[in-house]
Amino acid sequence: MTREASTNTTNRTPGNQSGADALLFNVAGLLGEPLGSIRDIRVEAPPLSLGEGLVQIRDLVGDLRLTRTNRGLMVRGRLRTAIAQTCSRCLREVEWPVELDIDEEALPTIDLVSGAAVNSDDEPDALRLTNHHELDLEDDVRDLINLAEPIAPLCREDCPGLCIVCGLELASGPHDHPDEEIDPRLEGLRGLLQ
Ligand SMILES: [Zn+2]
Ligand SMILES: [Zn+2]
Repeated sequence: MTREASTNTTNRTPGNQSGADALLFNVAGLLGEPLGSIRDIRVEAPPLSLGEGLVQIRDLVGDLRLTRTNRGLMVRGRLRTAIAQTCSRCLREVEWPVELDIDEEALPTIDLVSGAAVNSDDEPDALRLTNHHELDLEDDVRDLINLAEPIAPLCREDCPGLCIVCGLELASGPHDHPDEEIDPRLEGLRGLLQ
């Protein structure tokens, strides 16, 4: 059963904040509320730096619902962004949309009432709130984006790729030349003149 006392909150004021800041939510208030209390959060976060040549090229946007559980908070929602990819057939730059489904329980590290450290040995891999009762989704989001990176991305499903004779994109139009050996530079030039 969910309570009706739901308030819409946004994560601080958008502006110059980093993607990491925009994915940090103070949830002390919600932790102090009864079981089933909810918060709806609109997420609008600038791109994170992902490392390893992976580049996020759109803001992260979406909605999350936090629900107070007996142990912590249930975090559910869907976030969207896009990453830069290269078509594995024609090598064209592609904007690759990514959807992140979040469905996780976040557990406290510090007991809200007593201030004592919570024993986390039983569930070492659980998502943990910070010592300041904040929900920090930066690492989760980064992991999910990395998992969403395709192995062999295509600019479109039927991308014909590159001509094995001249190296031009076969998608760029009528493409015929004699089968004998052709200087690839001249062929490229002809393609431009057509
Ligand atoms: Zn392609
Ligand atoms: Zn060709």
